[in-house]
This record gives sequence, C-alpha cells and structure tokens, in this order.
Amino acid sequence: MDNRQFRNAMGKFATGVNVIATEVNGEVHGMTANAFMSVSMDPKLVIISVKEDAQMLDRIKESQTFAISVLSEEQQKMSMTFAGQIDNDEPVEFEYLDGKPVLPNSLAQIACDVSSEYVEGDHTLFVGKVTDIQLEDGQPLIFNCGRYHSLENEKANSAS
Ligand code: FAD
Ligand code: NAD
Repeated sequence: MDNRQFRNAMGKFATGVNVIATEVNGEVHGMTANAFMSVSMDPKLVIISVKEDAQMLDRIKESQTFAISVLSEEQQKMSMTFAGQIDNDEPVEFEYLDGKPVLPNSLAQIACDVSSEYVEGDHTLFVGKVTDIQLEDGQPLIFNCGRYHSLENEKANSAS
C-alpha cells in the first residue's frame, strides 16, 4: 500500500480544522491540525497528533501546554497560514485563554495542559487536560479529500 492510497483513504473522513498553538519564551507558535479527538468527559480530555518533524513537537514538550482553536469557514486563510501553505503578510494576533494562545473568532477555543504523551510511529499523541473553554457562533471550516469546504457552499451546491 502506498502513502497516497493511505492519504486518500484518510481524506475521505471529513473533519473540521484546528490551529494548535503554544507559547515558549514569549513566542507563540501555531500549526494547522485535523488530527483531534474528544477522549473523556470525567476528567475532560482531548487528543492531538503531531508529526515528528513538526516545529510544534518540541515546543509543546517544553511548554507542557497547548490550545486548540476550531476554525470557522471564514478562517481558511488561518489554516493555510499555519500549514505553511501561504505567507501571511500581516502578523497574526492571538488572544489568551487560561494563559494559552487562541485565535480570535474561532468557533471553539480549548485550553489544555499536557496530561500524557505517546510516540506512535512518526507522530506523538498528546493527551490534553482541558482547563478552560470559550465558544463563538459560526459555521465550521471543513477538510475533506485534501480540499477545504464550507457547509454553506455545500448547501448552495446541492440546491443548484
Ligand atoms: P512551521 O511549518 O514552521 O509553521 C507552520 C506555519 O505557521 C509557518 O508558515 C509559520 O510561518 C506559521 N506560523 C507559526 N507560528 C506563527 C505565528 N505566531 N504567527 C504567524 N505565523 C506563524 N500536521 C500534524 O502534525 N498533525 C495534524 O493533525 C495535521 N493536520 C493538518 C490538517 C490540515 C488540513 C493541513 C493542511 C495540514 C495538517 N498538518 C498536520 C500539517 C501541518 O500543519 C504542517 O506540516 C505545518 O507546517 C507544521 O508546522 P510546524 O510546527 O512544523 O511549523
Ligand atoms: P492529504 O491528502 O495529504 O490528507 C488527507 C488525510 O490524510 C489527512 O486529513 C490526514 O488524515 C491524512 N494524512 C495526510 N498526511 C499525513 C501524515 N503525514 N500522517 C498521518 N496522516 C496524514 O491532504 P493534503 O491537502 O495534501 O494535505 C496537506 C499537507 O498537510 C500534506 O503535507 C499532509 O501530509 C499534511 N497533513 C498532515 C496531517 C498529519 O500529519 N496528521 C494531517 C493532514 C494533513
């Protein structure tokens, strides 16, 4: 089985899109990520998966904290910026939730302390203990088959 077939299969599973961010020595680093899962209600735990060559890996190991910003359909540019797909001309402003950096106007902002980490293949899974949450109204950005979508566009497409 080749890598492309694996990615094509995984890409059939439509997801939202998050920006994970952490702060080390006063510097915020962000990374686009769709490997995310709710794990436990009591205690409240989530999981993210970070590849071994990502700059993000050592930063989370050092800070032992991260925040997840769930992107809205209006934030595709943020996803592309933090995936290194485009250069953003303007600096990106972060806000803070429980001292962790989150993107303004994202649909859900979830602050976490690292609870445990597991190296699995070429990724590290971080289990995050949720320390605070903030919610905003809006529609989600969707990632499916390697492309961005929005629920509104899909509705418009299916109606036409
Ligand atoms: P870099 O590649 O150095 O940084 C990422 C980009 O963010 C760079 O362009 C950098 O300039 C910019 N940036 C970082 N901090 C700031 C800041 N404070 N202000 C402005 N710009 C900043 N990879 C995974 O490991 N796990 C996943 O779950 C995952 N899911 C993905 C989902 C999607 C939809 C996409 C498109 C990519 C996904 N990736 C995932 C790949 C990952 O986003 C990229 O490989 C990313 O470039 C890795 O980031 P990095 O930490 O190595 O840092
Ligand atoms: P794609 O076809 O590469 O992605 C489709 C799906 O494949 C993703 O949603 C993810 O579930 C899986 N996938 C892709 N690369 C992976 C990896 N290295 N490890 C584990 N799972 C992976 O879509 P695309 O538009 O070509 O992606 C843009 C870039 O973002 C690519 O470089 C891709 O590798 C990267 N990406 C990485 C991850 C990840 O590391 N977990 C997830 C999504 C995208």
